[in-house]
Amino acid sequence: MSEQLELYDVTIIGGGPAGMYTTFYSGMRDLKTKLIEAKNELGGRMLIYPEKMIWDVGGVTPILCGKLIEQLEQQAKTFDPTIVLGQQITGLEKQADGTFILMSDTGERHHTRTIILAIGYGILTMQKLEIEGADRYEVTNLHYTVQELEVFRDKRVVISGGGNSAVDWANELEPIAASVTIVHRRDQFGGHERNVVKMKESSVQVKTPYAVSQLHSNGESIQQVTISHIETGETELVDVDAVIVNHGLKCDYGPLAQWGLAMEDETALVSPKMETNIPGIYAAGDFVNFESKVRLIAGAFTDAALALNSAKTYMDPEAPAVAYVSSHNERFKEKNKALGVES
Ligand SMILES: Cc1cc2nc3c(=O)[nH]c(=O)nc-3n(C[C@H](O)[C@H](O)[C@H](O)COP(=O)(O)OP(=O)(O)OC[C@H]3O[C@@H](n4cnc5c(N)ncnc54)[C@H](O)[C@@H]3O)c2cc1C
Repeated sequence: MSEQLELYDVTIIGGGPAGMYTTFYSGMRDLKTKLIEAKNELGGRMLIYPEKMIWDVGGVTPILCGKLIEQLEQQAKTFDPTIVLGQQITGLEKQADGTFILMSDTGERHHTRTIILAIGYGILTMQKLEIEGADRYEVTNLHYTVQELEVFRDKRVVISGGGNSAVDWANELEPIAASVTIVHRRDQFGGHERNVVKMKESSVQVKTPYAVSQLHSNGESIQQVTISHIETGETELVDVDAVIVNHGLKCDYGPLAQWGLAMEDETALVSPKMETNIPGIYAAGDFVNFESKVRLIAGAFTDAALALNSAKTYMDPEAPAVAYVSSHNERFKEKNKALGVES
């Protein structure tokens, strides 16, 4: 079976910032590279907050997260890697020659010499609103993320949830929505105290301890919600144009959790060179666990370079331990010319 599959040097699983940067770096080291992402788009966790400004990536002046995803994707494609979207990697088979076959949930198989796991905390799904039939409004006015603030302009919005993101969205929507009501089952909100105070001092209507208990629709979209007091059961009816639910995230590694990787605190134990306990398999980004791990986009980039350098020297022990820096790397000569730079 493996003979019929195209063999790649490196297969990166996960298309968040760690996976995208590893893909770029792999091309820089002249490796035949494939990136596989379970979702139909690249971005990883960054897709949760595309309208947020990012300030803490070195050398990048404040940038919208959606724009940073675009730039990471563009950089990842520099050396024309193969990018596979919409496939969750589930199975792993080690071959007699030391290569690996990866199996995906679509039945497709991928042949590779090395693997880099950039899978964050696994496949992320939003905790859904636990009301029967609620899913039918996901195509109209029931939202689990805020992709574009403008969608909510002049709308009456109910936000269900009390975490950091729920409070953040309430503050951001307050100036543009017709009204914002936040419904939370506890009196205390999560997140930064300053944001909670700002929300409480604004026109946002705060309903605690309440929960959204019923949705009333015109058949297509939600028109009203019933909210119920957690202790007394007393109910109120609220008119709405949009409902946003932020009840947290669920993460799941799926069958990958059974691969025999050494794990602690639900993340992979790695050496300082990002080696897992399985030779030929490396890891980068939020998935890795080492003492000084930095769980930031910037931290993912360093892990990515370390993991890729380890994969390179695993395949070719004579290869330099690190890539030539981009300012002196032959791989960029033609690309610099195309940019009108002769160096
Ligand atoms: C609300 C919020 C705000 C944040 N703000 C900032 C910030 O301002 N600055 C900052 O530096 N960091 C921020 N972070 C953290 C940052 O987003 C993460 O550190 C970063 O996304 C980790 O990148 P990653 O590539 O390791 O993992 P992820 O971004 O989680 O990507 C992992 C990818 O792997 C895919 N995947 C998982 N399993 C499989 C599989 N079996 N097969 C195929 N694909 C798979 C997933 O679908 C996902 O796309 C924020 C995080 C959140 C949640």
